[in-house]
Amino acid sequence: MARNSNKNTHTCSFCGREMPEMFAGMDANVLICTDCIEAGHQMVSAMPRKSSPAGEELNLNTLPTPQSIKEFLDLYVIGQDEAKRFLSVAVYNHYKRVLQEISNDDVEIEKSNILLVGSTGTGKTLLARTIAKMLKVPFAIGDATALTQAGYVGEDVESLLVRLLQDANYDVAKAQRGIVFIDEIDKIARKSENMSITRDVSGEGVQQSLLKMLEGSVVNVPPQGGRKHPEQELIQINTKNILFICGGAFDGIETKISQRLNTQAVGFAAQAKTAQVDKNNLLQYIAPQDLKSYGLIPEIIGRLPVLTYLHPLNKEALRNILTEPKNALTKQYKKLMAMDNVNLTFDDDALDFIVDKALEYKLGARGLRGLMEAVMTDIMYEMPNKKKTGTTLSFTVTKSYAEEKLGQEKLVQLKNAV
Ligand code: ADP
Repeated sequence: MARNSNKNTHTCSFCGREMPEMFAGMDANVLICTDCIEAGHQMVSAMPRKSSPAGEELNLNTLPTPQSIKEFLDLYVIGQDEAKRFLSVAVYNHYKRVLQEISNDDVEIEKSNILLVGSTGTGKTLLARTIAKMLKVPFAIGDATALTQAGYVGEDVESLLVRLLQDANYDVAKAQRGIVFIDEIDKIARKSENMSITRDVSGEGVQQSLLKMLEGSVVNVPPQGGRKHPEQELIQINTKNILFICGGAFDGIETKISQRLNTQAVGFAAQAKTAQVDKNNLLQYIAPQDLKSYGLIPEIIGRLPVLTYLHPLNKEALRNILTEPKNALTKQYKKLMAMDNVNLTFDDDALDFIVDKALEYKLGARGLRGLMEAVMTDIMYEMPNKKKTGTTLSFTVTKSYAEEKLGQEKLVQLKNAV
């Protein structure tokens, strides 16, 4: 070490000055003084930063193509191919629009917000969330039923933007390129197409407030959320480049679709048309006019030009959800147990049994988690106690084990919780 013999100081290997306080490297002869550390820190801070993956900015070169967006969605979401294709194209076009160079031609690419129609628990939120994850853009979820027209008791529409801003770590520019998912948009439909709207607090009024946001406007949001106060500082968010994905079950819309198809089918080509209609899956024929009959105002429908649907999940889909997605439930439990040196496996018929119960008790994909948790709780409670260093234990979830854990009482309890 470069200690100076007659003084109680050291020589800095970087600036050569003598100082009493030094930091040594792996090699004790290499020393650095606090001034050099400070100078180094300033130099590094001033260097242009290579953004971390999470902060990587989207640009036209890195924007994934519709096919690669769909492939990414396939890793997390089972089935729903039509919805995935529509979404991939819409998202691709949206970000092309956002990232385009300002050009002098008059062709303005319009915003294409998306409406996903499908029963609850079929993957609408998951699709939106997965896209935001892939593109590494801020994401916020809101429920249209919680929203009210400004001035009424309930959440203001701006609360959705507050959540987006929070997810963007208060980086306004980033938030302005984010994705907002608004669930249960069907619940703010007018109760009837011709109903008086004067006292329809949660219906048309909210639709009107949402409309402004969907079409792109500058909205003042209170940074901490909650109600706006006159003395509070507000942040301005321009929603022009925010992608809104709306979702709704639109229960009973099949009747509207069927009515429309029947009226259309009157006349010359009637028989040929009705013969082609798959009555078991009318949702696939959904069109904007059905949304209008259901009670969405035409302006909102016009602002959600990409309309697609999700299939109800059948047995095969539910079964795949347990094992196939990148973060499938069985994979998660295996990983948790592996951390305790337990090799966890599931018998096929145990998983079939769990899926059967999800269908029988109408628990859907969302209920699979509760079912798996009920099966796994005792294992996760007991196995860590049995662990011995250096040995790997095994546990197989058999059908009879699953049956034992999913008694009728438990299933009724889970049903009530959904
Ligand atoms: P929705 O928004 O349509 O009501 P979600 O996307 O919230 O439904 O789905 C609820 C949960 O069910 C998800 O978190 C996911 O675990 C599971 N799930 C639903 N649909 C699918 C699917 N198609 N593929 C994989 N998992 C799914």
